[in-house]
Amino acid sequence: MRIHSRQLSKHDSSSLLGDLMRLRFLHAALLAVAGLLAPAQIHAQTGTAKAPAGSALSTGLAIAKQHRVDAIGERRFTHAAFWAAVEPSLASRAFRTEVIGRSILGRDIRAVTFGTGPVTVLLWSQMHGDEATATMALADIFRFLAEAEEHPLRERLRQALTIVFVPMLNPDGAELFQRENAAGVDVNRDGRRRATPEAQALKRIRDRVEPRFAFNLHDQSARTRVGRSGEQAAIALLAPAFDAERSYNDVRSRARLVAAEIATLLAPELRGRIAKYDDAFNPRAFGDLMQTWGASTVLIESGALPDDPQKQRLRALHVPAILGALDAIATRRYESADPAAYDSLPFNTGGASDLFIRGAQLVLPGRPPLQVDVAVNYEDAVARVDGRIREVGDLEGAVAIDTLDATGLFLHPRPDALMRRDDDAWLRIGAPAALDLRRGADPSSELVRAFGDAAK
Ligand SMILES: [Zn+2]
Repeated sequence: MRIHSRQLSKHDSSSLLGDLMRLRFLHAALLAVAGLLAPAQIHAQTGTAKAPAGSALSTGLAIAKQHRVDAIGERRFTHAAFWAAVEPSLASRAFRTEVIGRSILGRDIRAVTFGTGPVTVLLWSQMHGDEATATMALADIFRFLAEAEEHPLRERLRQALTIVFVPMLNPDGAELFQRENAAGVDVNRDGRRRATPEAQALKRIRDRVEPRFAFNLHDQSARTRVGRSGEQAAIALLAPAFDAERSYNDVRSRARLVAAEIATLLAPELRGRIAKYDDAFNPRAFGDLMQTWGASTVLIESGALPDDPQKQRLRALHVPAILGALDAIATRRYESADPAAYDSLPFNTGGASDLFIRGAQLVLPGRPPLQVDVAVNYEDAVARVDGRIREVGDLEGAVAIDTLDATGLFLHPRPDALMRRDDDAWLRIGAPAALDLRRGADPSSELVRAFGDAAK
């Protein structure tokens, strides 16, 4: 299986890109010899060829596809399933795996180290147990680092960096698919007190390896938009503050440049879907504390994308984001990043409803219609299934991920949405959003759209 993959890697898009770039350079050189190009133009062309826009993105996406660990295919997986899935990769001599602590329920917390370079980078994922997107991407990155021995990106990382990965820092939370650990503690609010073994393990490894850069990998609510009126946020980035004034020292400035690299890299795939996370200083949170402890730290939050119920698209996009950021550090390319690419990102805006049906006429059986707006939230906001009625009435100004203008149409609750006693039927907040949108008040009039468990 591994040999097969290695054969494939000779034909991946990055080496094709390399060939194309060499051809372009040759072409430019030939033109110059013919006296058709000024030297300045040659310089400009080779400069472009060295780092063509989007190459880190396309290379990373090709890696994500080619080295995907198929054993992990859904957001929810156990500690045992994760480590079994990455075991073939971690058998490579390129890695050193060690136990750095145990969770409250006795599960191993492991660190995986790759590379022998002078700059140390620490990444940890799933400190919140139900935030698994980056953990999936780390599995794919391990496979790439294990298999693609001749890949120039892998070589650059190996020589320039010592990368310490701590996937699934909160394995008990992952097992229960809950944010907190087995004691109900939010490990990301335990950075100062460090009462939990998970927080202690992270602090110990930080103190031992003293990273210059760190990546704090999370998932955020799918009900978060880019700015007040933008799209659902797919990714949010943060260079956390190290003080209440949110000032910039060298450590935070470097983090901002790395965040700017990531924003620029992902922009072609996620135009308008990248936000900036709230940068208020939190003295209990690990990202902020890492920054005070001297590691330039970037928070990457995975939000949600339409039609990506298991976040597999976001998982794939994490591969270029993380590898691109690591490469920017390895090559020091981040030093020439434009901080505006980060600063200009709109802030996350939370609290949106999943679905907003505006201006419909609500028809209770046997009653005259009344004009209402209806807000619906899904039990699973990522997969957008199991809708529940959240609010009914004049909801002017409501913010939602999706808004449907139902002016002039009639909303008929199906039996599942209604409470009944004797001949009475009524609608209750929290009921399943089993709703038919029809042309008329007559329940047999033309169906425009049906909302229900599988509704979008
Ligand atoms: Zn989180």
